[in-house]
Parts: sequence; structure tokens; C-alpha cells
Amino acid sequence: TQPQKKLHFLMIPLMSQGHQIPMIDIARLLAQRNALVTIVTTPLNADRFKSIINRDIQYGLPIRVAELQFQLAESGLPEGSESADTLPSHGYLKNFICAIDLLQQPLEQLFQELRPTPTCIVSDKSIIWAAETAQKFRVPRIIFDGQGCFAVSCIHHLHVSKIHESMESESEPFVVPGLPDRVELTRSQLSGAFNPRSDQFLKAMRQRVMETEEGAYGVLVNSFEEFEGEYVKECKKIKCEGKVWCVGPVSLCNKDDLDKAQRGNDNAKASNDNTDCLKWLNSQAQSSVVYACLGSLNSLTPAQMAELGLGLEASKRPFIWVIRGAYKGEEFEHWLKEDGLEERTKGRGLFIRGWAPQVLILAHPAVGAFLTHCGWNSTLEGVSAGVPMVTWPLFAEQFYNEKFIVQVKKIGVRVGAQVAVQPWEEEKFGVVVKRGQVREALDKVLDEGKEGEERRERAKKLAKAAKEAVEGGGS
Ligand code: UDP
Repeated sequence: TQPQKKLHFLMIPLMSQGHQIPMIDIARLLAQRNALVTIVTTPLNADRFKSIINRDIQYGLPIRVAELQFQLAESGLPEGSESADTLPSHGYLKNFICAIDLLQQPLEQLFQELRPTPTCIVSDKSIIWAAETAQKFRVPRIIFDGQGCFAVSCIHHLHVSKIHESMESESEPFVVPGLPDRVELTRSQLSGAFNPRSDQFLKAMRQRVMETEEGAYGVLVNSFEEFEGEYVKECKKIKCEGKVWCVGPVSLCNKDDLDKAQRGNDNAKASNDNTDCLKWLNSQAQSSVVYACLGSLNSLTPAQMAELGLGLEASKRPFIWVIRGAYKGEEFEHWLKEDGLEERTKGRGLFIRGWAPQVLILAHPAVGAFLTHCGWNSTLEGVSAGVPMVTWPLFAEQFYNEKFIVQVKKIGVRVGAQVAVQPWEEEKFGVVVKRGQVREALDKVLDEGKEGEERRERAKKLAKAAKEAVEGGGS
């Protein structure tokens, strides 16, 4: 047979860990299937996956990284602000989006210089200008949607029905129409565009994202059909004439422990820090440890962080707590020192400051529960590891994901967060989840009775299905 024209994917991830990490996994999946892949990003973002890609290159995979300078000064951003999690504060979000817009011109220059010429653009759906670029160079554009099919379906039916607009109060529950399951939400739990407290600028941006989504050739989703079946079908009805491809869980494409340890981590020391936490896990009883991590962005106030820590202490269980220090880190550390929580829980609690090797931790047999903010990647990583979850959604589409985890799949217990608190509103809301709620939810999820046992069984079954989905012949 004639060799086909070699595929060359130009990948443009959004500069945020929760978007970049799964796209790097997808890039590697494509290269493992012998397609040429060029990942384009900025230097600091490239540092977070370069060592993994360099190993792939040594093994002969056709993958490479092209770096474009982020125009920080022109966008009014301080040094180092190249990713959503390294912005000094949420006030810089608009500048950040402006810097992303300024990448269009250098990217188009690069496109013309690359040999062989790219045959397809795969871009995060929030990189709006990629639509224009693809059109200019007459190549198809496939978008990566960082959400799951359940969330996409919820958003679609909210958009079409506008049911939330008829609710008098923010706390009145309503059923989202048109979904295969009965899903109840309140207005105060809704994501961006539907949330009455959303920012106008972000609302307008979401509108633009929705419009440019329409011209895409297809959509890649980090999910698998055995997990989101009905909702995958739902998405195929809504998006890109059915060209919706579930290619996940993408974290499972990291077979090597070093890949898992370095995934998303720009700290060269990472692998040493990791062995410490894995050694500690080795000394703990099976399924006993709570792993608590609320994603890459960490917007909790010091007071809310304190309450979470005191809840972990009150649970009397061993725990790993990931403390991401970007937001008011000093103030929190000061509290921690005064309070003595770390001292009191010494030996039982492990505090990770910075970046945790999440997929390695979750896969360890000592881990018995995952306290998560229900970010979509974390959700799938928890599912892939077969651990039940304690759900603490913060904002974005996380409340929808919580519904899916707790109500539809029945593999989680709610901590009881009621309202989506946008990162810039944290101060206004103060402490929304109390230590007692954390303790109760952990007791329930780790319960040795029938309910807990059945929940664990369901989680294990899904993990098995997740592994089969990414194996040869899998969905
Ligand atoms: N993550 C990690 N270590 C950390 C914090 C986060 O490896 O200390 C990874 C996590 O495994 C996931 C991603 O960062 O792949 C976070 O994505 P998610 O969609 O869960 O949440 P977001 O950070 O976008 O809110």
C-alpha cells in the first residue's frame, strides 16, 4: 500500500496546568502512533514537560517542542506569569488573556517555517484565534475540551432551556431538562456564563469561545465511553456533527513511574521529593490514607485552608495534604506555625508544599480516599485509581462534576459546599465548609459498613474499565 501523507499535528495547549497536562498526554499518544507532533508553548510552560518529551525523543518518538516568548511587558504581566497558576493574583486574568492573544502572530510565523508543514491544528478550545489561523493555512482544527461530556451536556441544556433564568433565588433547586439522569442544581452553583455573579469580561470571552467552537472539525475529550456513555452520545448530538472522540483517561498513557512523577512538575528535584512521599505511603496500612488536593490553582483563603486542615486532623486518619502556595501562602503558613497543626499531626499527616505527584499517589494501595475539588482531570485520575472521593467543588464546571461523581456514578460523598465561589470572591464568602463537614464526609467515605463497601466496589470496577478503555481494542 502507498504510504499516506505523514500527519503533523500542531498542538496549542492553554497555559493552565489542568489544560496543558492532558494535552501533553494526548500529544504523546499521537506520537506513539507515529504521527509527527509539534507542541507550541512558552518557555516556563515547556519546562513542565520537557524532560518527559526529551525521553520520548530519545526513544525515537516523532515529537518536539517549539517555544514562543510570552509578551509579558506588553501585556502588563510581571515576570513568571506564564500560566494561570503562576499569576500573582486573579486581577491579572485579563492581562493573561491578552498575552495569549499576542501569541497568534508569532505562531503563524512559526507555522510557515515548520517542515513538514502541519496538517492539523489541535488547540485548546479557549485559544480562540486558532480558528482564524487554521482557516488561513487551510488545515482542519480539532479542539480539546477540558471538560467531561456530562458537564458539556449540562451546559448545553442550560443554554438551550434557560431554566435557571426563571428561578427567583440563587438557592432554589431546579432540574436540568433534557438529561438522561435527574440532575438538580441551584443558580449559585452554575459555571461561568450562567452564574449570576460572573464577571462581564469572562462572560464575553465564553461567548466567543462558544462561537469559534462551531467551526471546529472535531472535539477531543479526556473521558471514556464506559464511564460517560449516555453523555458521550449526548455530546455527539450537540457537537461537530458527532465528531467527538473520547481518548481518555489520558493519564494512563504515562506508564513509566518517572513520567508519572514529573507530569506537570517544573521542579528538577521532583523525583527525590516523590520518593519521600511514596516511602511514607509504604509505611501506611492499605486503603487508610486520605489524599487531599484541590487542584493546581488553589484559591482558598487562609481561613478556609485552616478549616480544611483542622478537618483532616479531626478525622484522626493518616493524610497527605497538598498545599499550593500561590495565594496568600505566607499568611497561611503563619497561621499554621501559630496553631501547631503540623506538629500535632506529625507522623500521621504529610504536608506537600508545591507540586504533588498526584497520579503516583492515587495509585498507591495505601490511599483510601481522595478529597478533590472535582476538576475534570482529578476526577478521571481518581476514577482510574479506583478510589472513592470526597467532593468539594469550588467553581467552574466542578459542581456538575460533583453531581456526576456522587449522584450518577455513586462513587463519592459530598463535603457539602453549596455555592460556587469564584476565585475573586473568596474573601467575601469566607469559610464555606466547616471542619466538622470534612470529618463527617471522610468518615462516611471510609466507612467499613455496607454502603462504604459498595461505593469502593463501584470505584474499583470503574478503574478496571478505565484501564481496558486505553488498552489495545479498548474504546
Ligand atoms: N496536579 C498534580 N499535582 C498537584 C496539583 C495538581 O499533579 O500538586 C495535577 C492533577 O493530577 C491534574 C491537574 O494537575 O492532572 C489539575 O487538573 P484539574 O482538572 O483536576 O484541576 P484544575 O487545576 O484545572 O482546577
